Amino acid sequence: MAFSERFLDELISRNEISEVVGSYVRLVKRSGSNQFGLCPFHSERTPSFSVSSEKQIYHCFGCGKGGGVINFIMEIENLSYPDAVAFLARRANMELPDENGDRELRSRRERLIALNRDAARFFYQNLSKPAGRAVADYIAGRGISAASVKTFGLGAALDSWSSLCDEMQALGYSATELLDAGLAAKSSKTGSVYDFFRNRFMFPLIDVRGNIIGFSGRRITNDENERKFVHSRETLLFNKSRFLFGLNLAKKSKLGKIILVEGNVDVITLRQAGFDNAVASLGTSLTEEQARLISNYTKEVVIAYDTDSAGKAAARRAIDHLEKLGVSIKILSVPGNKDPDEYIRKNGAGAFAALLSGTGNHVEYRLEEIKSKYALDTDDGRISCLKEAAEMLSTLRSQIEREVYAGRMAELLKISTESMMAEIKRASMRRVRDAKKQQERASRPVSVFRPRERSIRFDNPVSAAAEEGVVRLLLADPELSRETDGLQKEDFSSEFLGRAFLYIKQRCDERRPVSVSLMSSEFTPEEISHITLMMQRPAPVSSGISAMRDYIGVIKRERLLAKSKEDIQDLMELNRKYRESKGLEDKDGKEKH
Ligand code: ATP
Ligand code: MN
Repeated sequence: MAFSERFLDELISRNEISEVVGSYVRLVKRSGSNQFGLCPFHSERTPSFSVSSEKQIYHCFGCGKGGGVINFIMEIENLSYPDAVAFLARRANMELPDENGDRELRSRRERLIALNRDAARFFYQNLSKPAGRAVADYIAGRGISAASVKTFGLGAALDSWSSLCDEMQALGYSATELLDAGLAAKSSKTGSVYDFFRNRFMFPLIDVRGNIIGFSGRRITNDENERKFVHSRETLLFNKSRFLFGLNLAKKSKLGKIILVEGNVDVITLRQAGFDNAVASLGTSLTEEQARLISNYTKEVVIAYDTDSAGKAAARRAIDHLEKLGVSIKILSVPGNKDPDEYIRKNGAGAFAALLSGTGNHVEYRLEEIKSKYALDTDDGRISCLKEAAEMLSTLRSQIEREVYAGRMAELLKISTESMMAEIKRASMRRVRDAKKQQERASRPVSVFRPRERSIRFDNPVSAAAEEGVVRLLLADPELSRETDGLQKEDFSSEFLGRAFLYIKQRCDERRPVSVSLMSSEFTPEEISHITLMMQRPAPVSSGISAMRDYIGVIKRERLLAKSKEDIQDLMELNRKYRESKGLEDKDGKEKH
């Protein structure tokens, strides 16, 4: 959505960056105008995350993330650009401007959210009615406290075809809205609508912003003919693969990690037992989007899935997704093939805490998996197992970890630790070689400002360095814009830097401030991070003019060189065609005699 610049300017000035960041990160003043703290985007012990009130930017020297205040909120709250703007508007007590196109969609969404809220209230109130008695008894029978019922907003869908629809229609919601929210279904015979959730224990599905976007309903009987769980279908609000039950609460946990469980009830029981950091996906294995969502809040996940084979496979996939995001993973296997809910009921919270503190990490878990694949009483089996284990261990970053596990594996396979380590080394060298080859194939990045993100690549490193110089100087001193009048976007070898140049130059020429926050809508987060990185470099303002001229000189020269290369190729092609048409040359380019 496009917000007016006036609105954004005001939004940004009303959300001072160090104040906004300060509510997530403890900042201390260290040098000059910068404040420092521990980066919220990667785990670290010494602060490399800086906030500049002067430039209104943040930048992490450790992980390279950076940007303005809108970017910060997008990253830390895991919000889209318009949502982050809305978030900051709320924070600053500003009204969001209404945009015609989006207004309708937004009001439809808001209406559905309101409907869900009213439905949840209805379900909740049912618990104290005679008709809701069966569900209330079921909830109590599972040991769920009244406080939990409130915290999670639990409720009862009555054993009726229309109690919800009737109630909501009395409140002014239409049948269409009930269908759109997934709360009603339509009879194919009569065309009338009826309650989608009936005679069920209801869990509202609440997103990280606190909106109810759907529901899960559990049957309260043991009747195998009925589905044990029913979830809302996909709606304008609800997308199962982007949702995690309990994250709205877990994101506020002080425990520093997140426990990933399979069921909604596990989340509730864990919270009652003092673990306020559990989340569940709704019966599917963790998706990439869910992993990203989690990684916004924590860098450490404990997986407490069932230990049956389905649970194991699900854990495997979760590990794959989370590892890519740099999240460290521990596997908790609950004895007796129980889920955390059952385990805690039987053994108490203390027993679970003990399990948790002894969680085997994922290396052990994966070694177990590899071991179980081979018959270790045969030579062949042991050799294959050794190869695969070495391959896996070679991916570990810590040498100590490699040695520890190599020792354990060697013992098991009845070989020496040295030969296990040698095998790991071979696997590791193979990996490095493959990685190198791949890197060579990709174009070479600039050595001075190597972009951390793969998506930003520079085809011509010489020119790109100068292009960055131009952008950096402009950011440091808008007056230098005059020097760049002869420079075109097309002169840039990097499309991204050309775009950044044009954007910044236009603002300089119009004497408007350049704010990274304003750029959030036009540049990707990677690009913004890269621009912030450039802004952090000290700029030689004293010799700004001559530096600018030098940079422009390099860019133009490189452009000419590239162009003349193209021209020469064109000429050669013309020449070849000419000779071909005269029959002087055959197709392979060999001269005829
Ligand atoms: P309970 O303890 O009440 O039996 P659970 O959470 O332990 O519930 P599981 O069978 O382990 O139940 O399922 C884990 C999760 O998978 C559930 O919380 C639910 O979200 C989802 N799920 C289970 N069965 C179904 C189903 N039939 N349809 C859709 N989702 C389901
Ligand atoms: Mn269970």
